[in-house]
Amino acid sequence: MHQLQSANATGRLRMIFVETPANPTGEVIDVAMCSRLAKECSTEDRKVLLAVDNTYMGPLWSRPLQFGADIVLYSATKYIGGHSDVIAGAAVGSRECIQAIKAARTFFGTIIDPHPAWMLLRSLETLKLRMDAAALNAAHIVAFLQRCRAVTRIYYPGLRKQLSADQQRIYAEQYSSDGAMVSFDVRGGNRPLSWY
Ligand SMILES: *Cc1c(COP(=O)(O)O)cnc(C)c1O
Repeated sequence: MHQLQSANATGRLRMIFVETPANPTGEVIDVAMCSRLAKECSTEDRKVLLAVDNTYMGPLWSRPLQFGADIVLYSATKYIGGHSDVIAGAAVGSRECIQAIKAARTFFGTIIDPHPAWMLLRSLETLKLRMDAAALNAAHIVAFLQRCRAVTRIYYPGLRKQLSADQQRIYAEQYSSDGAMVSFDVRGGNRPLSWY
């Protein structure tokens, strides 16, 4: 917050960029709050944009544009591609924002060729089926991890009780699934051990 205010004071703040939920801790940032901040920092000739990396909850389970994001970014390598055969990314937003991104993309040359583009189109047809299955699998994996003595903490939004009240509120307001990302801490840290 402090950093944001001092960056804004220089008159050079152009974008607030958040990754939410954060990979791999699952910590969430209130997108609506960030949007209010971006608006507060904006002036007539300098609009501060809000960009949200929504890779973690994919295009189905969270829609940051509805909460005031200007640009939503995805690693299409993950849920959207889904077959471990394509590396790509996506940016979503208003025509105005996308036009500026398109111009920069043309200069930098970060344009995927027709084959991965076709693979992404193929993948989109099964996106919901795959994401629903992945969420179900994640819940099973969490149930398994909860029985492992060697696991000291599991990071998964479905385990509501270990989230702060703020985090619970944000999840309830801005996400429609517990997602399919799970991470965990192992007793003794990063050393070999017998598992369960
Ligand atoms: C994986 C990931 C990325 C990077 O994606 P690549 O397609 O591997 O470059 C960016 N943001 C989040 C939140 C991710 O999980």
